[in-house]
Amino acid sequence: MRLLDTFGQPAVRQQWDTVLQQGKLPHAILLYGEPGSGILPGALSLANDILCSTPVYGKACRKCPSCNRAQKLIHPDLHFLLPLAGSKSLSIEYYDAWREAIGANPWMNVFQWTQFSDVEGKQVDIHKEDIEQVTTNLSYESFEGGNKVLIIWMSQFLAKEGNRLLKMIEEPPAQTYFILVTNQREQILPTIRSRCMQFFFPPISATEINSLLINLYHTDARQAEQITLESVNDMGTAMALARNSIVNLKEELTAWFRTILNRKPNEIVTWTTRMAGLEKEEQKQFLLYAIASVREILHENSDRNIYSHQTGSREMFKYMNEHFNPVVWQQVVQGMQSGYEKIARNANTKLLWLFLTITIKNTLSAYRLQHINT
Ligand SMILES: [Zn+2]
Repeated sequence: MRLLDTFGQPAVRQQWDTVLQQGKLPHAILLYGEPGSGILPGALSLANDILCSTPVYGKACRKCPSCNRAQKLIHPDLHFLLPLAGSKSLSIEYYDAWREAIGANPWMNVFQWTQFSDVEGKQVDIHKEDIEQVTTNLSYESFEGGNKVLIIWMSQFLAKEGNRLLKMIEEPPAQTYFILVTNQREQILPTIRSRCMQFFFPPISATEINSLLINLYHTDARQAEQITLESVNDMGTAMALARNSIVNLKEELTAWFRTILNRKPNEIVTWTTRMAGLEKEEQKQFLLYAIASVREILHENSDRNIYSHQTGSREMFKYMNEHFNPVVWQQVVQGMQSGYEKIARNANTKLLWLFLTITIKNTLSAYRLQHINT
């Protein structure tokens, strides 16, 4: 099994196959969904189709030298625009880090990318000079005489600088394709969006996660089943869980919320000290998992019960749902996200966990529903 063949979204893949077979792929394509839904592997797969020199029914043959280079992300006509720190940074200078990041986790989010590009904690953007550089490169003939592809990853970071690309998207140079990838479609200029054929990537299904874990990442079947249950339809979380054998995220999360809900200050100190003693990466992974789980509570509230296969932590979530005003969860997520960023910026983790735990405790107290006495 190859990631580029499936990327966990068979329905999207099937749509593309039809479009490619009919030779109707437009030159501007927008893929949107959460990073854990496979938007980046999807973009790489489609780019490979476009760059293949001997396509079969429009699809990549995966055998020719062009396919080989596209799969290794070293095809000279495969360009990327990436969110970077520093207005003078160029994406091309980060291609090594980018390849390494994709190799490690093609389901990564922006936070994880900033770790790979060594700009953790800094503000990133897609910058003017980078856009100008890449549009100049695209205006030349292709290196291999075939198609050229530009993947704009997390293209919401274009913001209004997107205008610099607009003209090229409207009147593209010959054999040039743009693949925009985003988890915030609304942030993309409507003038650009309207030029693109758009594809939505829904949360990845449990069946697909299970299959990717077993066939692509060689996870043991029983472990894969457990991870699929815990991964909240997010392949990024699933991969993190598959790699994380030290901390049992679910148990740890339950322990944390118990500590928060109890009225024993000692327990808070004990728990936060223990968490602060873990590797920084583990702490960050734990927070990502906690954020995904709390989002699940939000979804339960809105009756969008797409995670109904997840039964393990159901009881605790049910309790929390019944006892707190739903508006609290957005604030809890924000607190956790800010905690994540602070850990990424090398904050004192012992103080951070203490502060974060007490803040969440206070937020929850403020929104505890009055009709239930506990
Ligand atoms: Zn090929």
